[in-house]
Parts: sequence; C-alpha cells; structure tokens
Amino acid sequence: MVERCNRRAEIKELEDCGPALAELALEPREALVLAGEIASEQIDPAGEARMGAQVHQRYENGFALADRPDGRLEAVGEKLSRHATRPLDWRFSVVESEEQQAQSIYGGYIYATRGILQAFPMEAQLAFILAHEMAHLENRAQVVQRGQKTLVSLLRNAGEDTGRLEQEWVKLQRAEEYSADRRAVELMGQAGYPAEAAIQVLSSWDEEDDAHGPPAERVEHLRQTLRG
Ligand SMILES: [Zn+2]
Repeated sequence: MVERCNRRAEIKELEDCGPALAELALEPREALVLAGEIASEQIDPAGEARMGAQVHQRYENGFALADRPDGRLEAVGEKLSRHATRPLDWRFSVVESEEQQAQSIYGGYIYATRGILQAFPMEAQLAFILAHEMAHLENRAQVVQRGQKTLVSLLRNAGEDTGRLEQEWVKLQRAEEYSADRRAVELMGQAGYPAEAAIQVLSSWDEEDDAHGPPAERVEHLRQTLRG
C-alpha cells in the first residue's frame, strides 16, 4: 500500500493514502513524515503557485491589505530573495493591522503587519522576520503541513484516536520553526545583515503564538546555533 502511495504516477489524492497509512500502523512520526512527502510529490511548484494565488485572492478580499507597496519591506525582501534556494515569485504585502505578525503562504507570498513594521524599524530586524518566512517556503513547509493536516483530519474523521499523532505534529512544527530560524540567520548573513538582529527581534517579541512557540526558547536555540 505504501509503495502505491509513494508512487506519484498512481497517487490522485492524499485521501487514498490516509487509510493506507493507518493500515500500516506506522509510528505517528513516520506517518506524518510520509504524509508530508506525499503532499510534496502531489503538489508541484506550479500547483503550489496556483494555490498561493488563490489564497492571496482571499486575503485581498478578507483582510485589509495596504493599497501601496512598502518601500522598506520590498527592498529588504528583494535583497534576501537574491540568495533564496527556490526561484519563487516572491511578493511582500503589508496587512493594515496593529498586531505584530508575519506569515507566508504557498508559492512565495509573504505578509507583514503594519504593527511589525513599526515595532522593528531597523532593516536587519525586518530581514530576520522576512528571512524566517522565506525559509518556510524554501522548505515547502506549507505544502508538507497541508499533507500532515489532511492525514490527521482523515483519521480523526474515521473515528481514530489521533492524540499521539497530534502531539507528534506539534513537535514537527516546532522543529520546522527552529529550522526556519537557523536558515533565516544564514540567509541574513548572505544578504549582509548581522545575525545579532535575530536575537534582538526574538528578545523583544511580546506576542507568543502556538505555531512559533515561546520566543525565549527560540532565543536560546538561536544562541546555541550562533555559538556553533
Ligand atoms: Zn515560522
């Protein structure tokens, strides 16, 4: 079954693979990694770009996106994107919100709130925030997590106990965040920004969200990375 699900030519939907993965009684982590791989195979870069454009359209309708591009955001984004490992059509948009948030969606779309632009006026600080989101896109984290989310929903809908699977999923997401922080510092360096700005950003970040984890832990992790 799993061979069938791994062979791209025969995969139509992850839905075909959810039950197969359950039958294999894989360890939660293995099942999640496999679901991520399947989604990555199913969704090629062109498909990812189309999905990004669709979500961006919804954002345009549903959120207060700024009418005009922000010069500093675009300049920093452009500088970083020269060193990105994926040749994406990078687009940087401002969301008119006081909250401090940044987000990336499929295919190269990155959003920063007005609140974040005001909280971090230095170019290098903004570079860390954007580079972190770019790192998720380099990793295709959105596509991988989509596959994993689908697996969890399929099994939950089938009445399976998904407790362990969900715990493991949180750990994998946290690992992705640390990976994005590490890559962000590397990407900043390639673009000529000092790594210390990353620590400054995380140390003064006053909002914690479930996806990224506690800023203090990210700082500690990053310090270890910088010590090498
Ligand atoms: Zn992140």
